[in-house]
Amino acid sequence: MDLKALIRDIPDFPQPGIIFRDITTLLRNPEGLKYVIDRLATETQKLDTIPDYIIGIESRGFIFAPSLAYSLSAGFVPVRKKGKLPAQVHSIEYDLEYGTDILEIHQDALTTGAKVMIIDDVIATGGTAKATADLLTKIGCDIVACGFIVELEGLQGRNKLPDVPMVTLVKYG
Ligand code: AMP
Repeated sequence: MDLKALIRDIPDFPQPGIIFRDITTLLRNPEGLKYVIDRLATETQKLDTIPDYIIGIESRGFIFAPSLAYSLSAGFVPVRKKGKLPAQVHSIEYDLEYGTDILEIHQDALTTGAKVMIIDDVIATGGTAKATADLLTKIGCDIVACGFIVELEGLQGRNKLPDVPMVTLVKYG
């Protein structure tokens, strides 16, 4: 399937010079939505280690991670922006282009050695996925894979991630 034909490019959003890869046009297409979830699942099932938990990064990771978890009979665990999770959390601060942000996960969501896969819609600079990986490593999880619908290859985000298999369905230069 030609996923690029279903992903809408919005120039200069949210700021000049950025081409925003808008996946809402893919999501509203029944065949497109089914295709990306099925591909994520089949590519993940080929890996040496199948994850027990799919970690979705707020907010667009939440669109794909639970469906993938369902397909794999795995659990879904959200990583959220600061202040959203109600119980005790582990936190990590990470750098944005301007300033910093904080990601959190429930302290009792995962135990040491849990086999986890990180999911987001897009990997750009890789900063968000790296912060998530650092948070999971701090907990002692075993990160077995990362998955993204879209990879912006020119930004080399994958170099920031742990050396684990990476599933990506569409690449832009
Ligand atoms: P990153 O730079 O990899 O930390 O990307 C941060 C977040 O911004 C990711 O979760 C993506 O969802 C989003 N993002 C970054 N660049 C783009 C883009 N060009 N189009 C769509 N989403 C983007």
